[in-house]
Amino acid sequence: EVVTPGKGTLPPSDAIVLYAGAKDMEKWESSDGSPSTWIADEYLTTVPKAGIIRTKQAFGDMQLHIEWRTPLEVVGNGQGRGNSGIFLMGLYEVQVLDSYENETYYNGQAGSIYKQHIPLVNACRPPGVWQSYDIIFKAPVFGEDGSLESPAYVTVLHNGVLIQNHVAPTGPTEYIGVHPYRAHPAKLPLSLQDHGNPVSFRNIWVREL
Ligand code: MG
Repeated sequence: EVVTPGKGTLPPSDAIVLYAGAKDMEKWESSDGSPSTWIADEYLTTVPKAGIIRTKQAFGDMQLHIEWRTPLEVVGNGQGRGNSGIFLMGLYEVQVLDSYENETYYNGQAGSIYKQHIPLVNACRPPGVWQSYDIIFKAPVFGEDGSLESPAYVTVLHNGVLIQNHVAPTGPTEYIGVHPYRAHPAKLPLSLQDHGNPVSFRNIWVREL
């Protein structure tokens, strides 16, 4: 099969484009299935208290490219500064945070598998500058009895720098404690977190693997 690469980080020919402008908002919805109320123009921007949004399409194993930007004007600190997140299958969070000269707990900084895996390095760009994640995700596999046959695996490049090298989440992302895997379908929607901070996204595309 021939795949024509995109220019720069634009989607290759076989990608499913999830956001390239307002017209793609039809591919997203709120967590209760109602239309998203995030700002949708050239960029997709969180609206505090609007809640998470998720794709209407479900995904399992995939390559995901997503670009994000935290506000130029720094407000707040630690976890309150440019916090959002990429929830793979709606369950496993790759943290989005303004981690540029912003101290927080190390397993909660940008590019962490939140509270589980610390990024190898901090590759964050300054506030207001676009950044990218390239994520390779392998969905967990469950037996018919619901037992875990294989955990999920996540690899993340942040601005082209490897920060998570084929790590296995210990289970779904939770704020506190270790929570075991719970059997779920082989494909689930991708979701983006509303953590009360305005964070923008653009050029979101997926290649199913
Ligand atoms: Mg977050």
